[in-house]
Amino acid sequence: MIIVLRPGASPAQIDEVIAEVKILGYEPSPIIGVAQTVIAAIGDERTHQNLESLTALPQVESVLRVQKRYKLASRESHPANSVIDVAGVPVGGPQFTFMAGPCSVESADQLFATAEAVKAAGATILRGGAYKPRTSPYEFQGLGKEGLRLLREARERTGLKIITEVLSERDVEHVAETADILQIGARNSQNFQLLIECARTQKPVLLKRGLSERIEEWLLASEYLLAHGNPNVMLCERGIRTFETYTRNTLDLSAVAIAKKESHLPVIVDPSQGCGRADLVIALCCGAIAMGADGLLVEVHPTPAEAWSDGQQQITFDGFRDLVAAVQPFLTAVNRTA
Ligand code: PEP
Ligand code: MN
Repeated sequence: MIIVLRPGASPAQIDEVIAEVKILGYEPSPIIGVAQTVIAAIGDERTHQNLESLTALPQVESVLRVQKRYKLASRESHPANSVIDVAGVPVGGPQFTFMAGPCSVESADQLFATAEAVKAAGATILRGGAYKPRTSPYEFQGLGKEGLRLLREARERTGLKIITEVLSERDVEHVAETADILQIGARNSQNFQLLIECARTQKPVLLKRGLSERIEEWLLASEYLLAHGNPNVMLCERGIRTFETYTRNTLDLSAVAIAKKESHLPVIVDPSQGCGRADLVIALCCGAIAMGADGLLVEVHPTPAEAWSDGQQQITFDGFRDLVAAVQPFLTAVNRTA
């Protein structure tokens, strides 16, 4: 870090800062200028204490970071793309991944029909929420354990791998018995205790970006999973809250390109929560692939108009088939196979 002192700091004040830098575990290297002095504090900022507290001293003008705050998630620490093994399905390699299924698991008929349809169209991973994070407590909260049982049965019938959300620490153990990927939802993206519990399972985790989360905060949340010993992490851009009202959220495609640059972790895009409109899903998927996404997480329902959650953004079986066909030229353009 670089500590910038105020013009006119006295030699005693400079010495005071140098002493503090040592106490905080860094090696100080002062550069005494004519008008102003700066002190380079040498040490690994990612794991040492933050020196921003030094601005509490009157002679310190500012403290500047040199290194990124995330370490294990950064591309510097791991230049090659990470490929996550989801029970035999690789995510993040040359093969593009389609994850699809209903927002919520509603019934055996609904789930099994959707599983067959998305598999036939090219999906390898089935999504479906058994625990639903709903804005209102009066809305459908998910089938819970019965939903998990149906997801296991869908896997047995189709061979699709399962991604499903875990809402609380209390549920991690039993959701992990069913899930091939634990989904951390946007509302829990910075629930660090939940992340630590999920890390312990060693199961692949898909970490959604929070509703108003900065890219740095999202990567730092992924760092919690990695630092607690789980390397099987996927990032998921699912739109952020903005002032725009034509869409439910604003799908931040620049975040996809940035996350791919900054990190080696696979990046998945959820266009369904991303815009909240079925009619935009295909366009956003094409954009996501062009930005370098490694996969898509798409909500598909047999009859969206009757869905128990998120009906407005779920696409039909035909819609999903059209989507897989529509994105093929984009996959070819970025050298990805479907
Ligand atoms: C979902 O996938 O249905 C969901 C609730 O997602 P998010 O956490 O992104 O809102
Ligand atoms: Mn949903």
